[in-house]
Formats: sequence, structure tokens, C-alpha cells
Amino acid sequence: MMSTTFNLTKAADQCVMCGMCIPHCPTYQVSQNEAESPRGRISLIKAFSEGQLSASASLETHLQSCTSCMKCQQVCPANVPYQDIIDSGRHLYRGKLKLSSRLLQKMSIAVLTHQWGHQLLSIISVATKRISMDNQFARLLKLLNKRNIGSTAAKNQQSITILPGCTGSLFDQRTLSSIIKILNLLNIRANIPNKVMCCGALSQHSGYPQQAHKQITAINNYLSQQNANEFVSFASGCGRQFNEQVANEQFQHKDIISWLADSTSVNSANFESCAQRVLVHLPCTLEDYARENVTKLLNLIPSIKLLEFNDGLSCCGAGGMQLISPEDSNRSLLNSKINSIGTIQPDVIVSSNIGCSLNLQLGLQNAGLDINVIHPVTLLARQLKH
Ligand code: SF4
Ligand code: SF4
Repeated sequence: MMSTTFNLTKAADQCVMCGMCIPHCPTYQVSQNEAESPRGRISLIKAFSEGQLSASASLETHLQSCTSCMKCQQVCPANVPYQDIIDSGRHLYRGKLKLSSRLLQKMSIAVLTHQWGHQLLSIISVATKRISMDNQFARLLKLLNKRNIGSTAAKNQQSITILPGCTGSLFDQRTLSSIIKILNLLNIRANIPNKVMCCGALSQHSGYPQQAHKQITAINNYLSQQNANEFVSFASGCGRQFNEQVANEQFQHKDIISWLADSTSVNSANFESCAQRVLVHLPCTLEDYARENVTKLLNLIPSIKLLEFNDGLSCCGAGGMQLISPEDSNRSLLNSKINSIGTIQPDVIVSSNIGCSLNLQLGLQNAGLDINVIHPVTLLARQLKH
């Protein structure tokens, strides 16, 4: 998260306009529009912050469509802090958003990140099953996954803290129960917060830094109370936030994929064979070490056939609010992924970030393709020998 002394003009001036980031930017790849590139967005944000550019529908689009994939920051030779610049730009622009957009944004964040919001969504999702509604929100609600997660064996002595994050708690109980199933096999107890705890990424990347700061503080307090020196997450979007904002010498964080891959107790003898063709989606937020470990772990399943996307694009277009209100570039990125899936025809797709999984699942439903998107850990748990 940007520090309180962050200077937007100074950070933007660090950009030498070399354009080396541009070919790596997914929204530029699908739009071929400079304003949809990192360099273009930096120029727009600088001009807006200095009063040389007024708020407009197109400026809003270019700010919102960025998926915060951070491919640009990773390749920038001048170390431009792009993440801080886009977060700061969205924060500045927040007051200029149409009232309806601002309300939708604030409501969505509040509902997703609070216990009461999850209860409310559960009630609404039951109601929407009876009323015929066809919009992005109603389709998302149909993917709510609040089933019983199963219990962690109390006899287990060793334990690990799992932070599911807000969206994971709401939409991805299936992955949580899969993790518990594997941990039980390893005789490890899972400590899970009994209330919704958000990692702060959604607020931070939508321009609400104070709210993000409060959420990160709550996570730190929880880890301290639990004496949790080591904790894991299973949505790579949260994982990146934990790595950047929470992890330190006191609290060590790993993505569940890397944590399992590092465990000497997980090996091919644990799994039944699976003859399925599995398409692997690697989210932009998944760190390099975990990316390698996704294939390493899945290859422990005998007979599995792992496949790669063939569209040449890294990002699926999801990320923060783009899942709820996607711009044209975000839709094009998703369409490219869905077309790729249509040509590959896998039996199942695995993705380690719930935002990407929901985005892909909605796209598949719209295209009439009956293929499930699950977390790699869910596939591992399904193949466990009993
Ligand atoms: S952000 Fe970095 S890579 Fe992109 S144009 Fe600026 S200096 Fe070059
Ligand atoms: S974060 Fe990703 S989508 Fe946004 S400008 Fe950088 S490369 Fe493009």
C-alpha cells in the first residue's frame, strides 16, 4: 500500500515513457489503445492530478479497466511504482464518479467484506432463485458457495492458520473444505477465523486506502492473538496482498499451493489416478514460486493431462471491481479466454484465484459451455486415496 508520504507527481515522473511495459499489458493487447496501456494511464493520472485533464467517461473507463495484474511493474526498467500510481489515481477520481457508480462500488465493497453483507447476500441469493433476473450481479449470486466446510480433526496436534479472505469465504467454501480434507490426512488442524476478514486488496485497488489499512490492521491483530507465526491463503489475489502488506519475520505467509508442495508428506502415493484433461489457468497475482508448484502438485496425480491456454494472453480480465462492472477491454480479455477454452475442450479448468474462477465460470455459462472451474486443491482433494 502506498505510504502516507507518497508523491504522485514524483512517482509518475519516474516513468521515462520507454514503452517497454506496453506489449506486456493485457488491456493494451486487446485494445491497441495507448490510453489502455500503463504508460497511457500514468500520463492520464498525472494530467488529472495536476488539473490539466477533467473527469470524463473515457478517463473513468481507462482507470477502471486496469486489472492490477502488475505485468507492467514487473518489467519496468525504471522501477515505476505503477500499483501505487493507479491506486492513487482511482482514489483521486473517486469523488468524480457518477453517484450511481460510487454507490455501487461502496455497497459492493461493504457487502463483500462484512459478515452482515455475506448474510444479506445469502438471503438475496435464495430470493433471486425464485425471481427471474438476468444481470451480472444475479449470475454471480448463483455461484455463491456457502456449504458446510466440514470439520478439522481436533486430535491433530500441529496446526496452521488459514485466511480465506472475504470473497473466498463467500464463494469458495468448496476449496476450504478441500484444504481441510487434505490437512486431516496430514494430521494438521486448520485454524480459520470465525468471522469475515478481508485482506484489504479490494478496497485498496478501488481507491479506498483508509479502509484497506483498517482491514490489514485487523488481520495483523488476529494473527497476533492466534500466535500464528505461519499462515496460508488460497486466493492468489489475497496472497499477493498478504505478501506485500502483512508477511514479515513474525508472520510468514505462503499460498496453499506452495505450502503443500513444500510438505514432504504430499506425494503421488496419496492420489488415485485421474484421466481428465485439465486446463491450468495461472492468475496474474500468483507468485512465480506458486506458479511452478501448481503443475508440480497436479502432476502428482497419476495419468492426469495438464493443458495450457492457447490465446497468448496472460490475464482473464478480472481483478477488483472489473468482475462486477467490466469495461470493454476486460470483456475482450474474458472472451479470448472463453474462445481458447472452446477450442481446447478440457474436462475441467483449475485456477488459484477466486476472482478469476468466477470470471471464467460466468463467461463459460454465457457461452453455453458446461465446464467447471475449480481450485487445483479441490482436484487434489477429489483424487485423494481414502
Ligand atoms: S512505466 Fe516503466 S516501462 Fe512503462 S513506459 Fe514508463 S518507464 Fe517505461
Ligand atoms: S496493471 Fe496490468 S492491466 Fe494495468 S496497466 Fe499494468 S499491465 Fe496493464
